[in-house]
Amino acid sequence: MTGRTPSTKLAIAVCGAGIGGLASALMHARQGHAVTLFEQFEAPQPVGSGFMLQPTGMAVLETLGLADRIAARGAWVDRIFGRSEPSGAVVLDVSYAALDPEYRGLGIQRSALFDALYEAVKREAVTLRPGMIVKGASRGTLTFADYAPTGPFDLIVDALGSESALSDRHPARALPYGALWATLDWPKGGPFSPHALEQRYYRASKMVGVLPVGSATAAAPEKATFFWSLPHGGLDDWRARPLDAWKDEVRALWPDTAILLDGIDSHDALAWATYRHRTLSRPYGDGIVHIGDSYHATSPQLGQGANMALLDAFALAHAVATEGRAEIGASFAQLRQGHVRLFQTMSRLFTPVYQSDSRALPVLRDRITGPISLHWPAPPILAALVTGMLGRPLSRLGLDAYRAGKTNPVARS
Ligand SMILES: Cc1cc2nc3c(=O)[nH]c(=O)nc-3n(C[C@H](O)[C@H](O)[C@H](O)COP(=O)(O)OP(=O)(O)OC[C@H]3O[C@@H](n4cnc5c(N)ncnc54)[C@H](O)[C@@H]3O)c2cc1C
Repeated sequence: MTGRTPSTKLAIAVCGAGIGGLASALMHARQGHAVTLFEQFEAPQPVGSGFMLQPTGMAVLETLGLADRIAARGAWVDRIFGRSEPSGAVVLDVSYAALDPEYRGLGIQRSALFDALYEAVKREAVTLRPGMIVKGASRGTLTFADYAPTGPFDLIVDALGSESALSDRHPARALPYGALWATLDWPKGGPFSPHALEQRYYRASKMVGVLPVGSATAAAPEKATFFWSLPHGGLDDWRARPLDAWKDEVRALWPDTAILLDGIDSHDALAWATYRHRTLSRPYGDGIVHIGDSYHATSPQLGQGANMALLDAFALAHAVATEGRAEIGASFAQLRQGHVRLFQTMSRLFTPVYQSDSRALPVLRDRITGPISLHWPAPPILAALVTGMLGRPLSRLGLDAYRAGKTNPVARS
């Protein structure tokens, strides 16, 4: 890091009140900059399924003083487990402890993370501008669908997600497969491990997954996020099919899911997520920096997107704190590029192994790579991949991984 003289007070526009945008707005406000947060929804809200925070994302949340509150709302996950059916072959069994006995993932409802970040943002002197659809940016000024241009800003943070209007010169490519998902009551004492993300596959064309995601508020019941993989082209057919015929298909793949399927009473109980892939080779331009999915969208097979958005926000805040205005973008890129490229490549390689029409890849997975992955030295390498620690992204940022086992007795069970 070059350490040129940082500007004392910048006018910063953060576009998008998702995970990356909220974290970024919070950090810059606490640095004393004048932050305006633009969001398309009239009332900012969490959109999307429950997901996993890793020791990387939790490390960033710890710097914000939010990790313990968020941990209390989630479910500690120490294992990711997948079987191929009908053979029953174990093709994925990653234990966090293979890397470090105190590492855990945290299954969490998106609303729990969103609420913690949004409430913290509201306590800071951030100017909130909801209901504003960003259309473009030029020389520090933002343009909107229904409002006059606003600016100039010293820095624009593009945190608009995978369909960002500000990185549309490199549109994200929709992947062939996406997923249906639902948040359902966690079956207490039921067939699922409360500390594992479990999946079942048929070839790579069918996949069902169950993730414990804790309770969104202290009084709310514990929940599971349920996933069903589906090709884009199959969505209309799925909607046209009787729901019971689809439930029969899911039960045939993983009979234990019957107890969850009972909680799904219409097609509308499931939401559709399109997966997209894009990696910007240069995540910054004149007065603008792209973070989160607008920089690097991908399928959630490796479960890193939200964590990477948090790491991006932290890296950008670091660059703002240490660099002069003209060097912020390049400094941010230097801090994040290696890790982002590594995981985007891994995600591109791994996604078709679990979500594609390929016949050869799942055979290779079930007969060769799956069995090999269960033996040393694969377990710690795979654990480094799922924790997001591969490539040592934290040491570049001066952060330590969040160690759940140290502070939380549940996480030690
Ligand atoms: C089914 C599924 C499962 C996932 N599982 C995981 C997981 O286990 N672990 C993990 O780390 N990640 C996971 N992800 C990925 C993760 O959700 C994303 O990487 C993360 O949300 C990206 O954050 P972001 O802030 O970049 O974008 P987003 O969270 O998408 O936020 C973008 C924000 O910008 C706003 N916006 C968009 N366009 C405009 C506009 N033109 N004007 C104004 N506002 C706008 C949106 O309303 C939104 O508030 C999963 C994703 C999916 C779909």
